[in-house]
Amino acid sequence: MKRVAVFGATGSIGTSALDVIARHPDRLHAEVLVAGRNVDALVALCRHHRPAHAAVADADAYTALRDGLRAAGLDTEAHAGMAAIDALAADAGTDTVVAAIVGAAGLSSTLAAARAGKRLLLANKESLVLAGDLLMAAVRDHGATIVPIDSEHNAIFQCLPNAESHAGLKRIQLTASGGPFRGRSRASLAAVTPAQAIAHPKWSMGPKISVDSATLMNKGLEVIEAHHLFGLPGERIGVLVHPQSLVHSLVEFVDGSTLAQLGLPDMRTALAVGFAWPERIVSGVDGLDLLAHGRLDFEAPDLDAFPCLRLAYDALAAGGAATAVLNAANEEAVSAFLQGRIGFLSIPALVEDVLQRMPHADAGSLDALLAADAAARASMRTAIAREAIA
Ligand code: NAD
Ligand code: MG
Repeated sequence: MKRVAVFGATGSIGTSALDVIARHPDRLHAEVLVAGRNVDALVALCRHHRPAHAAVADADAYTALRDGLRAAGLDTEAHAGMAAIDALAADAGTDTVVAAIVGAAGLSSTLAAARAGKRLLLANKESLVLAGDLLMAAVRDHGATIVPIDSEHNAIFQCLPNAESHAGLKRIQLTASGGPFRGRSRASLAAVTPAQAIAHPKWSMGPKISVDSATLMNKGLEVIEAHHLFGLPGERIGVLVHPQSLVHSLVEFVDGSTLAQLGLPDMRTALAVGFAWPERIVSGVDGLDLLAHGRLDFEAPDLDAFPCLRLAYDALAAGGAATAVLNAANEEAVSAFLQGRIGFLSIPALVEDVLQRMPHADAGSLDALLAADAAARASMRTAIAREAIA
């Protein structure tokens, strides 16, 4: 029996993870459920999954959570605050952690789980973009294992399970749906709304990653994520737009072979791989009927309309804290866009400005990276305020 902690339980990935867990009462149990602030949704999940512990990040929500659990007749123990969440990530009562908090907020619990030697089902790509070297070192030093839950990286993991050995590996190619604005010119994107940006054609996801998919920043973050997970430089990580989202990524070897993983766009497949690997378990996702889909198309990404992808490659090449700056600036810009404070094209423009203003941020330690993250956020907030007034 695997005892699982789900961080980000009320989100898109969290609920998919709990769906897979509920299909396997004989081998999986959700021991710990963690959410940001939505107490009602968390209590509803606790009713169903009966975890030993439930936690919210918002420290002020402790009483509401405790009382909600009690009113539901559950003996689940309530916790609140980031320190409590980190302690649960490291707690010996679980062996498997689904890291599905959105954004840099997920870093400290992800690091705590790695340092405790857990099997880490890593959806929170921002923790790798912010502190990939540190996180991968913590995984190695403490005997943890990472199974990537991003669909592209999960595909590569399935084609290349031994990420340590690159014998014969030429390059990897991440596929991208192209998002809701694929094929549009840069000029035509000036007036798109948050509602249009989060209406993803193929995947149902949380709002932040949906906007990242629309700008192609998501693919940029994934290039950086792939660099850390698979130990390859940016030059050996390609991006291929594939609108059907059925081929989830490809691995090319020196002998001319290319391996790919295919399947319907549903994150439960990657999560089932994460829970059971090297075994295979039912995920609730149907098999792929290629005759029903008919065709698979591929095209090059349009870096003029979607400059975020280029910014991410540049940040990876620049090294140091550039990817931490990129991530923090992007989180702030996406949040401002979702609130209607800045336009869609301001996301890449302002992220590029912040990157140029912070060229030599120090990346020597976790504290230095967190300082770069904070400075980038402050710089971006100033730029947003200026933009919002103009
Ligand atoms: P979401 O917005 O649907 O859910 C986010 C979850 O994190 C919620 O449960 C929320 O309560 C919780 N949360 C937010 N801030 C928190 C905090 N400070 N402390 C604790 N919990 C907090 O997001 P999502 O789409 O599920 O994405 C989660 C992560 O998975 C992101 O890093 C995303 O990039 C990655 N990811 C998602 C998908 C997908 O299909 N949704 C695919 C690949 C990768
Ligand atoms: Mg992805």
